[in-house]
Amino acid sequence: MGPVFSQTSSDPVRLTDAMRSVFVELLVHGPLSRAEVARRLALSPSALTKLTKPFIEAGYLLEASGEGPATVGRPSQPLQVDASRMSFVGIKLTADELFAVRTDLSATVRMETSRPLADHEIDHVLGQIVEVVEELTVPGPLSAVGISLAGTATPADPVVHTSPFLGWSQLPLATLVEEAVSVPTVLDNDVRALTAVQQWFGEGVGHSSFALVTVGAGLGCGLVVGDRLVTGQSGATGLIGHLQIDDRGPMCERGHHGCARAYATSPAIRRSIATTLDRPELTFDDCLAMAADGHPVARRVLDEAGAALGQVVATIANIAGPELVVLSGESVHMYDVCAEAFHTALARHTHWTSTPVRVVVKPFAFNEWARGAAVTALQHLLLHR
Ligand SMILES: [Zn+2]
Repeated sequence: MGPVFSQTSSDPVRLTDAMRSVFVELLVHGPLSRAEVARRLALSPSALTKLTKPFIEAGYLLEASGEGPATVGRPSQPLQVDASRMSFVGIKLTADELFAVRTDLSATVRMETSRPLADHEIDHVLGQIVEVVEELTVPGPLSAVGISLAGTATPADPVVHTSPFLGWSQLPLATLVEEAVSVPTVLDNDVRALTAVQQWFGEGVGHSSFALVTVGAGLGCGLVVGDRLVTGQSGATGLIGHLQIDDRGPMCERGHHGCARAYATSPAIRRSIATTLDRPELTFDDCLAMAADGHPVARRVLDEAGAALGQVVATIANIAGPELVVLSGESVHMYDVCAEAFHTALARHTHWTSTPVRVVVKPFAFNEWARGAAVTALQHLLLHR
């Protein structure tokens, strides 16, 4: 038995592993008929009735017809989770700003807000976190808070081990926030948090294995293998940024020649075109537009970026064998101008015994990062608390 799955002590639902499985199945795949839930989880009808009863009585599960709380004795009515029953705050920390959303149980964003981070001193950051949590608590109490950041952190551990952007190491951030706001708080790496969104509410639904690859200021990778989000031994996984593409290529900020970051991140693409043309004013989107118009320098740089990305995706597929690769991140719209080079490289670098992995391109909105942190909090609460 786990602890209470409730915002108030008046309607506690005590969770067993079987109850968690039923609830998560309905959250991710619902609405489903009772017969379908029983079939998916290999449960007898009477066992299922017993497992769903406390959720129905506490208002977490409803009849899909939307006519109020489900009743136990109507087996033909589909069941669904009442998404409004719990709320979460997700916070994404970057070097200069904090973004936060309030979501319901279905990861739908209900509110969003942001704060500047003038410096990275913990008292200042903590103060800003407390402010946004208070602002986002106005409509009603929260079940959990999730915080994501680039760096080494996992939901199982309250400590940020390393965060190069924020200059932190061994900082017990979740403990500090939890003490300040009195809401259970978990941390995660930002790319893994985005992967959690895809796993339960996005392209990953129905797939027991997939990879999320993000392109933007950096390159990231989250992996789900056998229905589990891989966290690794120390919370460091999916570190694909410095995979070598060509040892005669451009240099990254760590001094590698021709690693993936030096080809395929938005700052690298912009810098390469702006420097070659001696046009420092060019933005990343200017560069994409020039490549789309066939400007030879921009075209070459985007073809190289697409090829590097295709090689990275092929490498991930060769190692992990995912059913699907989801391509996303702030710069994912660059795919439109480098898709041909991407797929050529993906095919060339896919192991000869396999066929190229299916790739789905997912448009990106910046609040996805904070939404990911909210889903991390939700997953941790439903699966582990
Ligand atoms: Zn590098």
